[in-house]
Amino acid sequence: MVATWGATGYGGSMDSEQYPEFRLGNVLMTSFTATLSERYGDAIERVPTPQRLVDWFRVHDLQVASCSETELEVSRDLRESIHLVATAVAANDALPLEELLLINQCSESGSASPELTSAGTMRWRLHTESVSDALAVICMNTVSVLSGERGGRLALCASQTCQAAFFDTSRNRTRRWCDMNTCGNREKKARFLANKRAQRN
Ligand SMILES: [Zn+2]
Repeated sequence: MVATWGATGYGGSMDSEQYPEFRLGNVLMTSFTATLSERYGDAIERVPTPQRLVDWFRVHDLQVASCSETELEVSRDLRESIHLVATAVAANDALPLEELLLINQCSESGSASPELTSAGTMRWRLHTESVSDALAVICMNTVSVLSGERGGRLALCASQTCQAAFFDTSRNRTRRWCDMNTCGNREKKARFLANKRAQRN
C-alpha cells in the first residue's frame, strides 16, 4: 500500500513519521483495537513494527522496555480477539470463547499496579516493563469496559469498511462513528455529494 501519512507521528522513535499515526482516544481498549483500522476495507496497520508498538505503549503511559517480533504477533492476536469479543458485546451476540480465553490469559500473565501520581491522576506501574505487563493492563481495561462497569454504551462504527467498536459516552448515547474526524467526516462528505448528484438529476 502506498500512502502519505500526516507529518505528525506520535511517539518517540526517530522513524515514526514513516508510519501511520496513532488514533488516540480516552479508552485504552478501543485505542488499542484502533491500531488496525479499516478492517473491512483497505486495512491500515498502525503498529507495523515492534518498536512502533513500544511507541504506542509509551504514548499511553505504559513504559515498556522492548518488544520482540513474537510479542508483536501476540499483541496483534490479542487485539483481534478483543475486537471480536467487543463486536459480540455490541451486537448482543454470544461471546466467542476462544478469544475470551486469550483475553483472560493475557490479563493473568502480566503484572502491574495502579499508582496515584502527585498530580492526583492514576498511572500504571508495569512491574517488569514487559509487553505482557502492558497487555495485562489493556485486558483489565477491556474487562472493565465490556462487563459494563463504566457508564457508556459499546457500539460499532456505522462505516461499513470500519465497523470498529467504540465506547459511546455521549449524553443520548447516539454516537454513530468511531471517530468524527475520520469516519464521521467521510460519511458526511459522501452524503453531501450524493445530495448534490440527486439535485442535478
Ligand atoms: Zn469508524
